[in-house]
Amino acid sequence: MQLGIEGRNAIVCGASKGLGRACAQALAAEGVNVTLVARTLETLELAQREIKAVSKVAVAVVVADITSDNGRDAVLAACSKPDILVNNAGGPPPGDFRDWTQKEWFDAVNSNMFSAIDMIRRTVDGMAARGFGRIVNITSISVKTPMPGLGLSNGARAGLTGWVAGVAREFVRDNVTINNLLPGLFDTDRGCGYLAYRARSEGVDVGDYMARYLAASPAGRLGNSDEFGAACAFLCGALSGYMSGQNIVLDGGAFPGTF
Ligand code: NAP
Repeated sequence: MQLGIEGRNAIVCGASKGLGRACAQALAAEGVNVTLVARTLETLELAQREIKAVSKVAVAVVVADITSDNGRDAVLAACSKPDILVNNAGGPPPGDFRDWTQKEWFDAVNSNMFSAIDMIRRTVDGMAARGFGRIVNITSISVKTPMPGLGLSNGARAGLTGWVAGVAREFVRDNVTINNLLPGLFDTDRGCGYLAYRARSEGVDVGDYMARYLAASPAGRLGNSDEFGAACAFLCGALSGYMSGQNIVLDGGAFPGTF
């Protein structure tokens, strides 16, 4: 399928590894110039080299903490008129809510709610004026199924989801869409780290916990990042302009609801 976005410019946050990187790679494969954002130069440059090796697009990197104002300034200085924005930052640490004070909550809300909102605030009017925009927020299945130990994620991401539900309707008329992609468990550092945390919490071997988890999951496996990247690219396609304000679950069927 031709997505019709060749020559477009994308900012992909949290793009040196994992799901963000897979989104960048899938967009680059569609001919989209990508600006990759993360905090670590070495892994960013590795991603840059690997994406360049399999595509013909411009691949820029910005070393920035997307959860800071300065970081967002730097990203938008490097790509001031993005057609596509993929919002993503690291997930908050797992733990027990009894241990979380205002600082932990403010950090989580800043990372997993406000940073995406502020990137949208700074880019969406320009997209609307230019008549094209695709915004994808990487959130989590925790929005629909609260995950044990991930209360900070369950809470902060629900806030982002509520805000997106409202604002998405304001821009679809201008061919700007805003959607959320909700990963279940994927084969990334974060996904595997969470399984290790769950195993430790239950005092069991990580391998045993993983085997039990996979046996109980409908797909019998973790998600592959490339599958996630492909879904992101589809949402960014020219023909996805009638799809906005949606929460798309990618979890191998793990969410048990009918809708
Ligand atoms: P990952 O493999 O740990 O990769 C995270 C990426 O984001 C890295 O490139 C990291 O690079 C970058 N990053 C982290 N914090 C950043 C910041 N403040 N500013 C800029 N870049 C930042 O994680 P992932 O599995 O791709 O997960 C992506 C998101 O989806 C996370 O929010 C995660 O909680 C959520 N999620 C993942 C899963 C899963 O199974 N993988 C499931 C549900 C939700 P640097 O560290 O160098 O900055």
